[in-house]
Amino acid sequence: MQLNHMAVFLDRDGTINEEAGHINHIDRFRLYPWSAGAIRRLNEAGIKAVVVTNQSGVARGMFPETLVDQVHARMCEELRMQNARLDGIYYCPHHPEGSVRQYRLDCDCRKPRVGLIRRASGELLLDPGCSYVIGDKYSDLETGFAVGAKGILVLTGYGRGEWEFRRAFWQRAPDFVAADLAEAVDWAIRQSGPHSRRTVKPSDESERTGRAAPRPPVAAD
Ligand SMILES: [Mg+2]
Ligand SMILES: [Zn+2]
Repeated sequence: MQLNHMAVFLDRDGTINEEAGHINHIDRFRLYPWSAGAIRRLNEAGIKAVVVTNQSGVARGMFPETLVDQVHARMCEELRMQNARLDGIYYCPHHPEGSVRQYRLDCDCRKPRVGLIRRASGELLLDPGCSYVIGDKYSDLETGFAVGAKGILVLTGYGRGEWEFRRAFWQRAPDFVAADLAEAVDWAIRQSGPHSRRTVKPSDESERTGRAAPRPPVAAD
């Protein structure tokens, strides 16, 4: 039986790196100092770390799609230098009122729509229903709620203002509000507990650690 993986879907700007409006030049990219450690803990827990990000600056003609690739290459390199890695990066370059015709689209992938998470889940064999979304905007969390994931709001980026001034309008409360990505990830890992270990295929576990996967306790329940 194929068991799909638990994942943490991570927003990018304001969650992993500093919110600086549109990151329209590589020089504006600043990883938060705690992000690599947080993503490394997901790696070590066997939880897939997948970025889902709206980059409508492409549709708005603010920067080319190649800049998005460049920023993601920089992000991956900075993470790699701190022994952390992402299992996937999915972005939406569209906007319904964009000025660049090829990206002017009422697409299904711009958050809070679920296209990015659905695509990631299909390609990486993820189970959104036992997964988490972490973001600095309610619209990030809504995306997660729509696919049965839990939603964690971080107070970095737009998060603090969202939490203070917007939460009265939210249809559903975040499952957790965290100071930053580090606290959010630690909470998700604690919540997932044995569940994440169940959803990691034993073969993956042994490939990762180089030893046999631990057997579940016989009389656990
Ligand atoms: Mg954000
Ligand atoms: Zn899109």
